[in-house]
Amino acid sequence: MYRIKRNQIIYAMSALNQPVQRVEDGATVLFETCDCFENQIKSTDTDFETLDWNRINPATGPVYVQGAQPGDILKVTIEKIGIADHGVMMTGPDVGMIGDRLTQNAIRLIPIRDSKAVYEGKVELPLKPMIGVIGTAPAGDPVSCGTPGEHGGNMDCTIIGEGTTLYLPVNVPGALLAMGDLHAVMGDGEVSVCGLEVQGEVTVTVSVLKDCQLPLPLAKTAFSVYVIASANTLDEAVLDATRNLVDLLTTMTHGTFNEYDAINLLSLAGNLQVCQVVDPLKTVRFELNLHYLKQLGITLE
Ligand code: CA
Ligand code: CA
Repeated sequence: MYRIKRNQIIYAMSALNQPVQRVEDGATVLFETCDCFENQIKSTDTDFETLDWNRINPATGPVYVQGAQPGDILKVTIEKIGIADHGVMMTGPDVGMIGDRLTQNAIRLIPIRDSKAVYEGKVELPLKPMIGVIGTAPAGDPVSCGTPGEHGGNMDCTIIGEGTTLYLPVNVPGALLAMGDLHAVMGDGEVSVCGLEVQGEVTVTVSVLKDCQLPLPLAKTAFSVYVIASANTLDEAVLDATRNLVDLLTTMTHGTFNEYDAINLLSLAGNLQVCQVVDPLKTVRFELNLHYLKQLGITLE
């Protein structure tokens, strides 16, 4: 197994990044990750003025997957997520959904004990570790690790956790996979601008799919498939997600289940869900139970 150290980080996903490791198709790779503040916050009275805001949302990597060529798909199976024994949050004026009501920045340090996060000694939350930032290099201009897009990135999607398989585009040779911004737990929306931000370790298996057409990014859990879309507004993201899931159903049935059938099925059984509304682009996912794909004879590699 390969181990990528948490000091090997990038702040933008880019074709120009030098890979920190080359791995073979089918390799298992452990990524050590910093929290989204690059572990700069040590206490609740950490002075905001002293934080280096250029070091936000570091992603560990990138890893070059041998054999991955533009047009392929990188299949990333998330085998395991380990997290630290505490996490941090911050919110304040001009961030999140009610930043206009807040007058000063506030940091919370939140202990994690017995598989629960304990918020201010009052509220226990079961953990649901997830990866906030995970993506491949885009073909064109670099994309900040704080921004989501077709390459993945800062999707802040709560279903990207242990056991999930994520399909990402290969835009450049080697794909250049990187990840970071783990959350011990996060609600859909991420309305304060933070999940429970933690340092941790993610173990994934990577494989390259050739001659495979899928709308991307795409995620698959034990139960469902999710198309993920990010756009300037939630409305635009919903439109993209709907079109992409309709395309998946029609393409993979070779048109025997046509656009009318697909949109009707999504209207009956698809579930549109919000990932996050606080990043530079908003992210949604459209979920369909694998049971329906099976009935239509669709299997995902
Ligand atoms: Ca994030
Ligand atoms: Ca985060």
